[in-house]
Amino acid sequence: MISVNPIKYKIHLEPDLKNFKFAGSTEILLDAVTQVDEIILNTLELAIWNCKVRVGECFVDCPFYVNPAKEEVTVFLPKEMAGNITLMIDYVGNINDKMAGFYRSQYKSEGNVRYIAVTQFEESDARRAFPCFDHPEKKAIFDIEMIIDENLAAISNQPISEEQPLGGARKLVKFRQTPKMSTYLLFFGAGEFEFIEDPGEVLVRAATMPGMTEYAGFGLEFGRKSLDFCEDNFVTKYPLPKLDLIAIQDFAFGAMENWGAITFRENLLLHFPEITSKAGEERICEVVAHEIVHQWFGNLVTPSDWKYLWLNESFATYFGYGAVAYYHPEWDIWEQFLNGQTDTALERDALQETFPIEIPGGEHVVINTSTAPIIYNKGASILRYIKEYMGDESFKEGLKYYLKMNEYSCASSSSMWESFEQVSDKPITRIMKSWIEQPGFPIVEVKRDGHKLVFTQKRFTYLPNEYNQEWFIPITIRVFYENGETRSITTLLDRKQGVVDIGRHVISYKVNDRQAGFFRVRYNDEGNMHELGNRVSRREILSEDRWGLQ
Ligand SMILES: [Zn+2]
Repeated sequence: MISVNPIKYKIHLEPDLKNFKFAGSTEILLDAVTQVDEIILNTLELAIWNCKVRVGECFVDCPFYVNPAKEEVTVFLPKEMAGNITLMIDYVGNINDKMAGFYRSQYKSEGNVRYIAVTQFEESDARRAFPCFDHPEKKAIFDIEMIIDENLAAISNQPISEEQPLGGARKLVKFRQTPKMSTYLLFFGAGEFEFIEDPGEVLVRAATMPGMTEYAGFGLEFGRKSLDFCEDNFVTKYPLPKLDLIAIQDFAFGAMENWGAITFRENLLLHFPEITSKAGEERICEVVAHEIVHQWFGNLVTPSDWKYLWLNESFATYFGYGAVAYYHPEWDIWEQFLNGQTDTALERDALQETFPIEIPGGEHVVINTSTAPIIYNKGASILRYIKEYMGDESFKEGLKYYLKMNEYSCASSSSMWESFEQVSDKPITRIMKSWIEQPGFPIVEVKRDGHKLVFTQKRFTYLPNEYNQEWFIPITIRVFYENGETRSITTLLDRKQGVVDIGRHVISYKVNDRQAGFFRVRYNDEGNMHELGNRVSRREILSEDRWGLQ
């Protein structure tokens, strides 16, 4: 079925929040590159009762077969067909309580329990709401409409284009067509949402349950800031006319980056005076920024396979911290990054039974407490590392190039490194492969030989090891001279041993300036350690560097 691709979905939904059911019909326009006599779509826990295909001006009934174990429906066409094919599928489903697919979230209003219906699709739960090609690479455009009670508000990825009263206290709500996007990023919801708005070229809104908008101002304000930060840093405009930040009580994850309709667990968006701590405020900002970074890294350009998910998460994590650091320099965010991300990753990755961030030809790694420090934390640390090595301007150029080349499409991690190499004269691909495709990380031993430093690398583990691994290690050395000047020298250690000339009249040197590199350092140089110790106690060293000397 590789030769069949979706072009456009028209999704019609009628949620019933009293009986927790919904009626759906989905029209799918697809393109068959070769002749096909059946179409296989993903579906899960939907009661499909009718499948049709357009033949000429009319729709013709098609037999179909649902295989629940494979989460698939096979639609048998009346004859072999190629080119544009339009399917129409009718079904009913449950608005479930599993926090996946189209589900219900409970809240209390004036002492009564009430419900909203919302969606959560990553990684593969869009198939619980409509039959589809449920893979990130199968991008398509979406037309969504819902029939809901007239007192409810509806939200989706795009703004509402039209509302029609239908009588019987119901209304039809239509949304503007989406850009080409992946199924897992689609969102629709209906309920007694209330909004506060920050108008602008892009309308930013916060949506809450009734009576809660007064707590949404803090998150909304940082949402706008994060949007500005991203547009500046990625040199690419946010492509939708609006961005909603939606607080939901029953939510499986911290937040979900649905394009233009980000959902949050309530305490990660709403700020309660007297209750939300300073750490809580920092967390709100970081999560809001993280999800907004995904609007580019994940949504505009999507991993062509789930095994490249780490790339999404690394960018979102790294720039999430970046946005918070930019607007709140007083919060020492990069120190928190070193503690929370880099150190956690170094500890996890020092175990013998670690694994590479990305295994060439390998499978997608399931995220759990054992794998997250590698996929998220090491990934984000390596990204910070390569950015420091490339320099801000070159890195920014690389991101812009990558987004432009792959917008509304999918990419692998190698297309990212190739983009960086396009704008940089440094061997980024070779460096990144050595960090991404092998497990563990090195310890760099350094000793001084006159005005030269001699570096040796080997893999670091807590227990003695016999590994014979090598990395391409960009090393930046902060050198302190007798006349009070300091200078940073960058070298690339691309073999077991390397030598760098640091000049004469050197008092001391700190290897791995600002702790940008993902490696440990051992100084075989007592005198230098003593001097660095003095600088630490005189606070003549950056806080990030102090962290590296503990
Ligand atoms: Zn994320």
